[in-house]
Amino acid sequence: MKIFQMPDSLANKIAAGEVVERPASVVKELVENSIDANSTWVKVEVEEAGLQQIKIVDNGDGMTEDDCERSFLRHATSKIKNENDLFHVQTLGFRGEALASIAAVSRLTLKTSTGDEAGTLMELEGGKVKAKTKSDARQGTEIVVEDLFFNTPARLKYMKTIHTELGHITDVLNRMALSHPMVRFEVYHNGKQLFKSSGRGDLLQIIAQVYGMNIAKKMVPVEYETLDFSIKGYIAKPEVTRASRNYISTIINGRFIKSIALNKAIQNGYHTLLPIGRSPIVVLSIEMDPILVDVNVHPSKLEVRFSKEKELFEAVETTIRNAFRKETLIPSGAETKAPSRPKEQSEQAAIEFYQTEPKKNPVFHTSINDGFQTHEDKQMEEDAFVSAQNAVLESNYSNQALVEDPEPVNQASANIPDEKEQVDSVNRIPVMYPIGQHHGTYILAQNENGLYIIDQHAAQERIKYEFFRDKIGEVPNEVQELLLPITFDFSKQEALMIEQYLEQLQKIGLFFEAFGEQTFVIRSHPQWFPKGFEEEVIREIVEQVIMEGKVDLYKLREDAAILMSCKRSIKANHYLNHDDMFRLLEDLRKSTDPFTCPHGRPIIIHFSEYEMEKLFKRVM
Ligand code: ADP
Ligand code: MG
Repeated sequence: MKIFQMPDSLANKIAAGEVVERPASVVKELVENSIDANSTWVKVEVEEAGLQQIKIVDNGDGMTEDDCERSFLRHATSKIKNENDLFHVQTLGFRGEALASIAAVSRLTLKTSTGDEAGTLMELEGGKVKAKTKSDARQGTEIVVEDLFFNTPARLKYMKTIHTELGHITDVLNRMALSHPMVRFEVYHNGKQLFKSSGRGDLLQIIAQVYGMNIAKKMVPVEYETLDFSIKGYIAKPEVTRASRNYISTIINGRFIKSIALNKAIQNGYHTLLPIGRSPIVVLSIEMDPILVDVNVHPSKLEVRFSKEKELFEAVETTIRNAFRKETLIPSGAETKAPSRPKEQSEQAAIEFYQTEPKKNPVFHTSINDGFQTHEDKQMEEDAFVSAQNAVLESNYSNQALVEDPEPVNQASANIPDEKEQVDSVNRIPVMYPIGQHHGTYILAQNENGLYIIDQHAAQERIKYEFFRDKIGEVPNEVQELLLPITFDFSKQEALMIEQYLEQLQKIGLFFEAFGEQTFVIRSHPQWFPKGFEEEVIREIVEQVIMEGKVDLYKLREDAAILMSCKRSIKANHYLNHDDMFRLLEDLRKSTDPFTCPHGRPIIIHFSEYEMEKLFKRVM
């Protein structure tokens, strides 16, 4: 005979590999148990990120002596009894595996009482019961897990730094608190308090605890109900965004879950209010009939399956969209095919303009919008548009002779001859002379080669981007001392990460000084940080470091440069005088890559003389 059934102790140890990945998983399972036992107060104390000890105390239902013994058996649960129950799971746990698994890989002490009679105290080691005695009758349960993975050295080896493990624990507890505002949480690490919530149901207060006060202030409440779903929560105004989706918390019937599709629905709800590639900060709690959600798809129960998926995503999208109804009244071109307000406005403006002029130029007015254009005209226009970029490129080379500066209009740069000489050799676009500005947004310019339309914002982004990109590479010896230090509130997890990367952040000139648990101050920063946006830029850099899990100087330079170029640049609807325009065009000419902004959008559109003549049918 070769086949033997495993003894329970071995089976439990194997199962533990799945359920108990790291200290944070123990915390998650035990706190879930406390919540399932109707606790209104849960205290979590961890030592050395839980590797030494995890202690969870609750004021829940507690267990009788019999139940206490059974709770450590595999597949022993009070939460479901039959198959039917599996489709109506109302509790966080239901697999009956956690206690058995945790006990199998640690030294565990459990003290519990229903409050009616004397309590029970059990001690286990590697899953084996070592002792069982009576204890006091305080209602609730206290579990102490010591020396986690003491008998699975391979697993122990996998543990990362204290910082990382503690980060995971904080993450778990943040989610627990966010999904259970009615439970009062107290969390300690090595005796120091990390977190505390009131348990009075104030979600915003918990958000403030988790993400900091500044973010909480930027959150707006949302609420929406359909026949199947009841959705409630807080969402950040579009002005506060994050590079990572980790700031979206979705909670289904009190269970924190991860769903790419739900995140997408949320993102869709924000529509174009979010910059490309940015994620919002959202806490959404969704209640539904348990029959509509299958929680039995993932061992750690982090993923679920919805049966009315489409309806749910629509409801979520509407929830978010409604919150910003005012903003979405100003539609973007992409939103709808129906006539949109901005277009009406611009038409209105055009009509007003032409009414002040004698109506001698109707063709001009109608040429773009209505049916006066023939198909050919349209095609030609498109051709002209497409060839514009090429034409700009070509003209660099065909017009090298024209490139010399006719006169140094830009006095600032004229005073720095070195810089000027240096850049002249790499000019890639010809001198362009500004004619004027269109709607405070586009510069119209000309030279022998024709007409140029320049997106002033994109142009400046490019210029600044190249400036910052070069600057960030330099050793930050020029620092700006701040009169008032800037204070940063981070989430617990972020704070831990920052501690880990302090040294690397210093290399790029950011000296974070710890100032309490979650707060850091910065007393100086590299000189070249854009004025007025220092805080935002620093936050952004930190966020990138947190997301990447390392300081990638190259990527940091790129991202920070793009960000700063954008912050510092003149936006649309900004009126420039003639000198400003000329200076901008000159600066653009000096940049290494003057054709697209850092996001890849075109900066210049060119109509050659020939193309203009074609458009006006002067030539065929
Ligand atoms: P599950 O949570 O999936 O039922 P567990 O192994 O986590 O499985 O727990 C087994 C059982 O032990 C639970 O069903 C519950 O009855 C009991 N139990 C565990 N923790 C507690 C607690 N903190 N308070 C009361 N009962 C608990
Ligand atoms: Mg459980």
